[in-house]
Amino acid sequence: MSSGAKNIRDVLVVGAGTGGCVAALWAARAGVSTLIVDAHPAEEIGTKACGGALSNDGVATIAEMIDPPRGAEIASTVAGGTLGSQGGRAVDLAEPGIIINRAIFGQRLLADAIDAGAEFGENTTCVGWADRGRQIIRLRDAGERERDVSVRVVIDASGYRSVLTRHGGPTHVDTPLRSEVGIGHYALVPLAAELERPDWVRVHVSPAGAGDGYGWLFPVGARMANIGLGGSLARVDRPVRSHLAGLLEVWNDVQALPPLRSGTGMLPLRRPLASVVGPGFLSVGDAACHANPLHGGGIAPSIIAGTLAGKAGGRAALKRDASVRELWPYAIETMRTIGAPHAAQEIIRRLMSSLSPDDLAFLAEELGRAGAAYRELYGSSPGRFTRHLLSIVGRAARRPALVAGLLSASRQAGAAHRLFRQYPSSPDRLDAWTRRVEQLFGGPERERSR
Ligand SMILES: Cc1cc2nc3c(=O)[nH]c(=O)nc-3n(C[C@H](O)[C@H](O)[C@H](O)COP(=O)(O)OP(=O)(O)OC[C@H]3O[C@@H](n4cnc5c(N)ncnc54)[C@H](O)[C@@H]3O)c2cc1C
Repeated sequence: MSSGAKNIRDVLVVGAGTGGCVAALWAARAGVSTLIVDAHPAEEIGTKACGGALSNDGVATIAEMIDPPRGAEIASTVAGGTLGSQGGRAVDLAEPGIIINRAIFGQRLLADAIDAGAEFGENTTCVGWADRGRQIIRLRDAGERERDVSVRVVIDASGYRSVLTRHGGPTHVDTPLRSEVGIGHYALVPLAAELERPDWVRVHVSPAGAGDGYGWLFPVGARMANIGLGGSLARVDRPVRSHLAGLLEVWNDVQALPPLRSGTGMLPLRRPLASVVGPGFLSVGDAACHANPLHGGGIAPSIIAGTLAGKAGGRAALKRDASVRELWPYAIETMRTIGAPHAAQEIIRRLMSSLSPDDLAFLAEELGRAGAAYRELYGSSPGRFTRHLLSIVGRAARRPALVAGLLSASRQAGAAHRLFRQYPSSPDRLDAWTRRVEQLFGGPERERSR
């Protein structure tokens, strides 16, 4: 039962992951009363199943929004990596970046939000809406006591389970299909001997048990590594952790000792939800399907979305106008910056899922060379990337299924990018836009027909 205690806040953020902490930081900076809650105790914030990889492009982008990872938050600096596959050639990845110490970084983001004035409620689970129309949210503490909070704006950053987003949050509910969800397992393992290249990541496409996914080895200093694997829920043999030993055989120069920590987690692997805004409501990070559908990287997108949502929520609270129309620019901006590149990459992920292991290995190698063309997906035009896809056709002459897939994927990836760049400027046009998305990606009937 609810205690009925009177609780009023301008902004409530549900979930203290990377997206939620940053949203709370920016809402508090706007000068509005901000409460951020998490189901976990404070000391566990940041300890989620994650590889912790962040490209330098990602670091540069988030550095415009928060203090970027620094000092002990950086476990390793990465110069590049090797992408390999069973029977395939290994190709170098020219993607410098860092491996973050997720726990230390997560704790710091929470501290930054609190320093900015946000109040943190640990061990506090959001149960759902107590009254959607009046913006009242029900919270439950560790002692099973419930209380209701009345808020102007709620930001759902509760991660993959997206507690409010799936139940009456946005104006159009677009629940991810099973085929659009990923599952992954990671282990933080000490190593018996130093890595020869502690600045070099390893990625292995489609290891045994991971279907269309991949395995990774991310150095954490020279004597430790974050090793894991994952893929789409529809294709990974479970339990996913049982395939870790097989993955280690791929890198037989590495002698892993028993893990210090390990865990399994799920994440969305698709374009963002069609609608991430509702009356007094914003959805952020994994809750809004902001993780990258091709490789699952979701730290930077959640920070971008958290920044935009915290600012939008703060502004709306100050204006005392949390209507959909007032919050709509958040949707437009996230669809342009995150939605357009990810919609194009979802097309590529779908192509990869349809290929034989041999064609998949070939395509992964070719995409590993995409470099600057891949980066342009994050700009206003996907042209260079779609041209890169077409250039692969010439080298794939003896692979008819891949050639057909590439020709159609290059067209569709361009169309998907454009569609998300043209996200409707007003909520009135959302239905028409959603129909165009369903034409391109298939609607729920696609899943039912499987
Ligand atoms: C195995 C694996 C490996 C990954 N590796 C990488 C990687 O190397 N690089 C990368 O960039 N991304 C990676 N990701 C993705 C990345 O971790 C996520 O995309 C990112 O953390 C999303 O952040 P978020 O804030 O949206 O959600 P989360 O970080 O999941 O945070 C959600 C928070 O909400 C809380 N919560 C949930 N429900 C409730 C509730 N009802 N009430 C209160 N609190 C609640 C949770 O306790 C949690 O703290 C990986 C994901 C997985 C699963």
